Amino acid sequence: MTLSLDLTANPTRDALRARAAMPAKGSLIGLSRAELGEALISAGVPERQAKMRVQQLWHWLYVRGVSDFSEMLNISKDLRATLEQHFTIARPEIVEEQISNDGTRKWLFRFPPRGAGRPVEIETVYIPEEGRGTLCISSQVGCTLTCSFCHTGTQKLVRNLTAEEILTQLMTARDRLGDFPERGTPDGAIVPAEGRKVTNIVMMGMGEPLYNFEEVKKALLIASDGDGLSLSKRRITLSTSGVVPEIFRTGDEIGVMLAISLHATNDDLRDLLVPINKKYPLKDLIAACRAYPGLSNAKRITFEYVMLKDVNDSIEDAKALIKLLRGIPAKINLIPFNPWPGTNYQCSDWETIEKFADYINNAGYASPIRTPRGRDILAACGQLKSESERMKKVDRLALEAMMIGGHGEA
Ligand code: SAH
Ligand code: SF4
Repeated sequence: MTLSLDLTANPTRDALRARAAMPAKGSLIGLSRAELGEALISAGVPERQAKMRVQQLWHWLYVRGVSDFSEMLNISKDLRATLEQHFTIARPEIVEEQISNDGTRKWLFRFPPRGAGRPVEIETVYIPEEGRGTLCISSQVGCTLTCSFCHTGTQKLVRNLTAEEILTQLMTARDRLGDFPERGTPDGAIVPAEGRKVTNIVMMGMGEPLYNFEEVKKALLIASDGDGLSLSKRRITLSTSGVVPEIFRTGDEIGVMLAISLHATNDDLRDLLVPINKKYPLKDLIAACRAYPGLSNAKRITFEYVMLKDVNDSIEDAKALIKLLRGIPAKINLIPFNPWPGTNYQCSDWETIEKFADYINNAGYASPIRTPRGRDILAACGQLKSESERMKKVDRLALEAMMIGGHGEA
């Protein structure tokens, strides 16, 4: 059974809604330390105090996870009032929280308008597993790319998310999962790294993160900051469809783990599945992978490969895959295709996927088959699409029928 929490009756949500309706104040979330210092000085904080105030705020925001200035107990009432007057540290509105029967959670978040724009909605997914919990974060509302097997690709790009909006997906998930220390105590216990629910993040939600490089970079540098949210860069993976010019910078300037949505081993097929291949063909993509900063056996690139029935799932394809990746420290992640209403693709049969995986394992590669998670709440890879294009009931019924058909279930 899927659990869907109605958050509309919650008074806190009402307060958040009211706040969302007010003219936008600049958020302090997502600013670098230098930008935070400048913002404070612009609000009248004396320059000589700025560095100390930045440290205090950083701690409250990213270690303690407060979302209200009144909780910043070592900051004077006057200064808290000044901060409140000029800035916000509010979380997005949670429009919906769904909990799948396998424990996967999906949130629909609404962000207030930017400039003359409209409010936007995006989805974030939490996947609990034995010994770890992964948060799948969105980088854009919609996507400009049109990978033919991806549901998000059918939704036009509305806009890039800001660093604040990328980070608050993580922070709000941590609020909901109890990953921040208890509120209201001066030194409430800090949740130790090993006790946390969100241990890993993947930029694999809606959008192409490398088409929003600067904001994604700012957000991930804050998420991995050792005096704040403290996620190890080895536990952060950025997935790209192959925006070749930004791949080196991802390793050099952000330093996180890289995943490539490969899905095909020749240009003809990849042009059809992942059309950005026409701009950056396989030769260039593979060269960029070989040059990825820090690449080693301890820091491998993950190649994602969606299993599409009779399209890319033969043993010949597996052979070509091994040949293509020769010499690159790599993991291969086989993703059973997740269906969505209107798609012409089907997931490969389970037996075919296992044969494909065996071939790859025998060639010496780790090749986990990604178990589909949260399909009942449309939270699995490539199924995300936001409220602005939320499914019609008739589409949902069609999808349920497809899933009862058992495409690719383990
Ligand atoms: N835009 C980025 C990240 C988001 S997509 C990218 O393309 O890499 C995250 C992963 O889900 C990608 O590997 C994508 O190819 C895969 N995916 C998309 N649609 C899917 C579907 N219907 N079934 C299974 N995987 C899908
Ligand atoms: Fe965009 Fe990634 Fe979907 Fe392609 S797979 S349409 S790049 S979100």
